[in-house]
Amino acid sequence: MYRGRFAPSPTGPLHFGSLVAAVASYLEAKQQQGEWLLRMEDLDTPRNMPGAADAILRSLEAFGFEWDGPVVYQSDRNDLYSEMLSNLQESGRLYPCGCTRKEIADSAIHGIEGVIYPGTCRNGLPPGKAARAWRVRTEDRTIGFDDAIQGHISQNLARDIGDFVLKRADGFYAYQLAVVVDDAHQGITHVVRGADLLDSTPRQIYLQQLLGLPQIGYAHIPVVLNEQGDKLSKQTQAQPINPRKATTEIFRALQFLGQNPPAELEMGAHENLWQWAHAEWSFNRIPNQLAVRYQS
Ligand code: GLU
Repeated sequence: MYRGRFAPSPTGPLHFGSLVAAVASYLEAKQQQGEWLLRMEDLDTPRNMPGAADAILRSLEAFGFEWDGPVVYQSDRNDLYSEMLSNLQESGRLYPCGCTRKEIADSAIHGIEGVIYPGTCRNGLPPGKAARAWRVRTEDRTIGFDDAIQGHISQNLARDIGDFVLKRADGFYAYQLAVVVDDAHQGITHVVRGADLLDSTPRQIYLQQLLGLPQIGYAHIPVVLNEQGDKLSKQTQAQPINPRKATTEIFRALQFLGQNPPAELEMGAHENLWQWAHAEWSFNRIPNQLAVRYQS
């Protein structure tokens, strides 16, 4: 049984980039006769925007998405994350880290996602340092997987990323831990999401291995860039998607995903467009690029 999901962070309203991820994950799940679940990634409470989670659900509804089961909220699941963290702690995979951001930034080694943690606290907290965050030990071996769109991807976590944080100094569980625990707990078999998360996937596979969870299938769709070449996001002032223009927005998302919706469907009710999309959806037409510029 195929089970996919869409996992928005309620840091603001949905923009075109998030709509594209929703459309791709939804149509693929439906075509595979599977289920499509929704999860609010509202763990990073300080970044949440009040009312955004409800606004996201309302606009998904207005756009005609139909999801299976109740919406899961990460903020309700701290007990589960804590249990999983304890499992890793007991098996000696974690260590407390007392380094400040500034101390780590002073390290000279850069990986593919910022500075590689220099390992200062790896063998125990140095005298005078108190635990701030919890890190997982990475290993010097290759973790590879076949992405259904981007092809074969591999990383050596020790060399490319470094020991990464699973519980942050501010007390919140890190995205990498929560996403792995939730995908497993919700029985997700396939993840379709933006290629901005491609570099996170080997970390997620590593955590699945450490926690004895099943490895899932991944497909990373190209990130939507605006005319200036920046990723659509709250920071780049991406416009919220407009439920009054639902059909046009879905039509454009399908075009971005390499599908060829017939022009006459851009005008009518979104139900007709969805009907076409369910029948004609072709995963192989999604451009196998990391990012694509989109003229709005
Ligand atoms: N919550 C993440 C986001 O909004 C997506 C996480 C995921 O799909 O794994 O970008």
